[in-house]
Amino acid sequence: MATSHTEPLLTPRTTLGRHAERGTHERDTINQILDEGFVCHVGFVSDGQPYVITTGYARVRDQLYIHGSAASRMIRHLEKGIQMCVTVTLLDGLVLARAAFSHSMNYRSVVVLGKASLVEDPEEKMAALEAITENIVPGRWAEARWPTEQELKATSVLKLPLTEASAKIRTGGPKDKEEDLNFPVWAGVLPLSLVPGNPVEHEASAVHEVPAYVARYSRSRGGK
Ligand SMILES: Cc1cc2nc3c(=O)[nH]c(=O)nc-3n(C[C@H](O)[C@H](O)[C@H](O)COP(=O)(O)OP(=O)(O)OC[C@H]3O[C@@H](n4cnc5c(N)ncnc54)[C@H](O)[C@@H]3O)c2cc1C
Repeated sequence: MATSHTEPLLTPRTTLGRHAERGTHERDTINQILDEGFVCHVGFVSDGQPYVITTGYARVRDQLYIHGSAASRMIRHLEKGIQMCVTVTLLDGLVLARAAFSHSMNYRSVVVLGKASLVEDPEEKMAALEAITENIVPGRWAEARWPTEQELKATSVLKLPLTEASAKIRTGGPKDKEEDLNFPVWAGVLPLSLVPGNPVEHEASAVHEVPAYVARYSRSRGGK
């Protein structure tokens, strides 16, 4: 299945410009952010028009898998192996500075550049669909009905090798200028995290017991 890449993820295209000190090209850090996230934004150009499409994904070793309807613009274009960009963002807090100019956010984000290819091998395709399902709710694949031949035909899976990527991380409080520190306004950080609400059972659900993987759902998995 996925091959293992050991080459550095830092390339001229993934060299950070502004606030380069917040950047890292360490594979473990990048993997942890990718594994905690479950929504990515896929950027590509089609007929001269840039599109940034939101979708789910999963990382398996050094590959990022995305799936979609074989008829979608995103899949039809990306399967040709055109240049693409995938970003994943985890929002950790709102940073309220004294100066409006210095307001910011705490975050962990990843940018992956490269070209995707269609997953043709049926075993790899099924494993990728499992990983995408598990990246949404770990534990779900084993209990859910697996895809039929017809569903598999209608769905394409693409893989993007993690060979060119960067992470950027902002932590900490506001960074006001010295002369603004006494400005009479509250300053600090409002931490944000993704927390699940109470599970809502479907009225036709055949099972009433909430599975443990739903009852104890958490996004902060700290990597796989
Ligand atoms: C939630 C959030 C809010 C932000 N708010 C602002 C804002 O208000 N204003 C602002 O100027 N910037 C903001 N940023 C930072 C922004 O994403 C860019 O990093 C920055 O604007 C430009 O950096 P650069 O010049 O290095 O980018 P570029 O020169 O365009 O990027 C060069 C390379 O650096 C890497 N890179 C750049 N940005 C990121 C990133 N965020 N994560 C991972 N790799 C990256 C990529 O590999 C990219 O190809 C925000 C980021 C996040 C995640």
